[in-house]
Amino acid sequence: MRATKPIVIKIGETRIDREGIKQMLAALGVSKEGSTRFEKAPDTGETLIELAGRICYESFEIGLNPNVTKIRLDPKDYFENLLRKGDGSVAEHGLVNFVMIGVSRVMTHELVRHRVGVAVSQESLRYVRPKEVNFWIPDELSPKQAEAMRAAVEQSEEAYRALEGSIPWDKMTMDEKKRLTSALRRILPDGLATNVIWSANHRTLRWVIEMRTDPAAEVEIRMVFDQVAQICKRDYPNIYQDFQRKELPDGTGSWRPTLRSKV
Ligand SMILES: Cc1cc2nc3c(=O)[nH]c(=O)nc-3n(C[C@H](O)[C@H](O)[C@H](O)COP(=O)(O)OP(=O)(O)OC[C@H]3O[C@@H](n4cnc5c(N)ncnc54)[C@H](O)[C@@H]3O)c2cc1C
Repeated sequence: MRATKPIVIKIGETRIDREGIKQMLAALGVSKEGSTRFEKAPDTGETLIELAGRICYESFEIGLNPNVTKIRLDPKDYFENLLRKGDGSVAEHGLVNFVMIGVSRVMTHELVRHRVGVAVSQESLRYVRPKEVNFWIPDELSPKQAEAMRAAVEQSEEAYRALEGSIPWDKMTMDEKKRLTSALRRILPDGLATNVIWSANHRTLRWVIEMRTDPAAEVEIRMVFDQVAQICKRDYPNIYQDFQRKELPDGTGSWRPTLRSKV
């Protein structure tokens, strides 16, 4: 058994097309001055979300829509108002892609319960025959309990290796290997670490971060979404401006929005 710990890395995100945005603003009749602002905006999904919000009321500048007499120019103020009102649909335009490495199947089973606005690709243990059993031992166990857990995992790994050794892999087709790899994995523990690419839009992210960093959530998924939240707060400061982290006794963070829970 090899000890691991779940880590989250951002590997992709929605990016804007600056030339396309310039063309869009010109086509909508926005003045040169009004469109200059967006030349300096971050090239992330955050800008796309702001544009999506502004197209609804033509609030790119005053005068475009005769009904609009004042607009929030500062993106921070603009997002604050958006979040306060709960206009969450525009947050669906931006997507973030994460890889979660060394997460257990306990965690991924909970992760996939979130169905809306996500994409999931998980390591296949029908195809992949683990060369090592990677496993995270929860910190909340005492040293004695942690040792007992390690022994139990090693026992199941031993049983796995014995079965694996009884199979003539070299003489088998890929399909036969797949069938047996799938059959054998059943004796490996639920806590077996695996890897998953998980992508979600910002509306979903705000919801899942809150749900899964709640003090009542399972500790590993909270460890994962504490990392997700820190990345989001760092890279998209306007969308997550109202998220506050509270450190819990186990070292993980619980994140709550102050403006509106579900947008
Ligand atoms: C602390 C905690 C404990 C839990 N304990 C258990 C447990 O003991 N047993 C268990 O089975 N599960 C448990 N869950 C999982 C929970 O029941 C949900 O399945 C999971 O959190 C997914 O959330 P969601 O339903 O908001 O779905 P998401 O896919 O995240 O959807 C987001 C929102 O979209 C809307 N939505 C999604 N799908 C539909 C739909 N089909 N129709 C209408 N509206 C929809 C809802 O408003 C929903 O809240 C737990 C979750 C947490 C956070």
